[in-house]
Amino acid sequence: MSDCLFCRIIKGEIPSTKVAESSTILAFRDVNPQAPTHVLVIPRVHVASLAAADNPVMLGDLLSFAASVAKSEGLEDSGYRVVANTGGDGGQTVDHLHLHVLGGRRMTWPPG
Ligand code: 5GP
Ligand code: ZN
Repeated sequence: MSDCLFCRIIKGEIPSTKVAESSTILAFRDVNPQAPTHVLVIPRVHVASLAAADNPVMLGDLLSFAASVAKSEGLEDSGYRVVANTGGDGGQTVDHLHLHVLGGRRMTWPPG
């Protein structure tokens, strides 16, 4: 989608700090980190949100990729959180499916 922020990051039209990538997935650092480690994991294909996702294989790959990013960021032993904000009440602000990988500090529950 030409006017989607994350599609533009995938195309390289907007710079990002890449962490890892595959033929179908890109991981890059969040521009406004909410934890010492804050990485976004997105599919290269445009999908608006988790609610709009209809490909369970892609979703599994995305989650698995998030776990491998957490491992490569050194978070496996200390722990981390993976979040998919979805829709208005979920706090989603960018309408391209993304997983937040957050770590490096103790998370609280319930989330705000
Ligand atoms: P959401 O609020 O939709 O769950 O997450 C969107 C995330 O994208 C936010 O954490 C926000 O900081 C991040 N973000 C927004 N614009 C940019 C950008 O241009 N570059 C990067 N790297 N992250 C962005
Ligand atoms: Zn997009």
